[in-house]
Amino acid sequence: MYDLSAVRADFPVLSRQVNGKPLVYLDNAATSQKPRQVIEALVDYYERYNSNVHRGVHTLSVEATDRYEEAREKVARFINAPSAEHLVWVRNTTEAINLVAKTWAAERVGPGDRIVVTEMEHHSNLVPWQQLAKERGAELAIAALGADHKLDEADFERLLTPNTRLAAFTHMSNVLGTITPAKRLAESARRVGAAVLIDAAQSVPHLPIDVQDLDADFVAFSGHKMLAPTGIGCLYARGEALEQMQPFLHGGEMVLEVTYEDASWNYLPMRFEAGTPNIADAIGMGAAVDYLAALGMENVRRHEVELTRYALRRFEELEEAVVYGPADLDYRGGVVSFHMEGLHPHDLGQVLDTEGVAIRTGHHCAMPLVRSRLNVPATARASFYLYNTEEEVDALIEALNKALRYFGRAPRS
Ligand code: PLP
Repeated sequence: MYDLSAVRADFPVLSRQVNGKPLVYLDNAATSQKPRQVIEALVDYYERYNSNVHRGVHTLSVEATDRYEEAREKVARFINAPSAEHLVWVRNTTEAINLVAKTWAAERVGPGDRIVVTEMEHHSNLVPWQQLAKERGAELAIAALGADHKLDEADFERLLTPNTRLAAFTHMSNVLGTITPAKRLAESARRVGAAVLIDAAQSVPHLPIDVQDLDADFVAFSGHKMLAPTGIGCLYARGEALEQMQPFLHGGEMVLEVTYEDASWNYLPMRFEAGTPNIADAIGMGAAVDYLAALGMENVRRHEVELTRYALRRFEELEEAVVYGPADLDYRGGVVSFHMEGLHPHDLGQVLDTEGVAIRTGHHCAMPLVRSRLNVPATARASFYLYNTEEEVDALIEALNKALRYFGRAPRS
């Protein structure tokens, strides 16, 4: 196991106070904090070799290009992609999924075809497919969750008909923490000839991931949830899938030859990276995966399982709390969504903030899941990462008890 206090010392923000209390940051599913190593990589770029990439022969440009492409190689190794050519830099998971929807899928999904998603998709892996299905006269089929909040695999299988062109599913729900058996689901989808897109926004930051083993056509994830800066993310695509895709944005850098009449496309993956890219943040993402790889993703996962086990046990003490998500920790990441009887999550979030405890409240960009499946307007959500501690879980429970007393739901002590 890694040294938790040494890890915490790498994250400057963790030593700050909020409302006079030590910060307890439990909103990691929304975005993670950044270690000094990532912040320093950004400063180093801007202070020493800020320059555009792929364009110049001068020293700064060569250095920037090297570091930018090195970062792509690091991320490729981190997810075990066959090569860096399979990774397209994008802004975030949302952009990665939209890129597939507006290019690959728009050309392949037609009237009468089917796209399969699950009941627990984030809006970014629901709305693009819903809109594409409407535009193309295709059908969107929604695989159900079981009563245990795991994916109902039999239902998913049942929906995979021969006219299914794509199965697009989350690897880990940001609301329930549910981990899907992505490899099995991908195998089932491939059996009916469907392509597979995995929304890995919550899994790449928290689980060891091997994209070749998962055997998906597309895997989308965001840097900011895995210690990297905001504004950078990746689309991994299998070689054939990437070769079949047409560029989405046209302009500089994505072309090989241009005449007044026509243009030819650059090599992969630059064909999909028109214009000046997000150089600094890509380099920052390289530093983030260095950090995660040095800790070891097996260790990160183990730490989060133990913390989640502890948190679920402590939540049992709160009679008023309804906790969502699978009890089976093999199928659950470090996310605890809950509802306190008679208390609006928003009010709860505000009271917790006065105690320095940062959680998220709302529909978590999964409105159909929260409103139609969980049947509540919103939930409160605590989500953990590699720097969180059992003492922070205790602080959360203590703050929840205070909130209950504040709102007259528990005797004032
Ligand atoms: N998918 C899941 C499961 C998420 O949790 C999120 C973000 O919360 C996204 C997609 C979208 O990520 P981004 O906002 O970085 O595009």
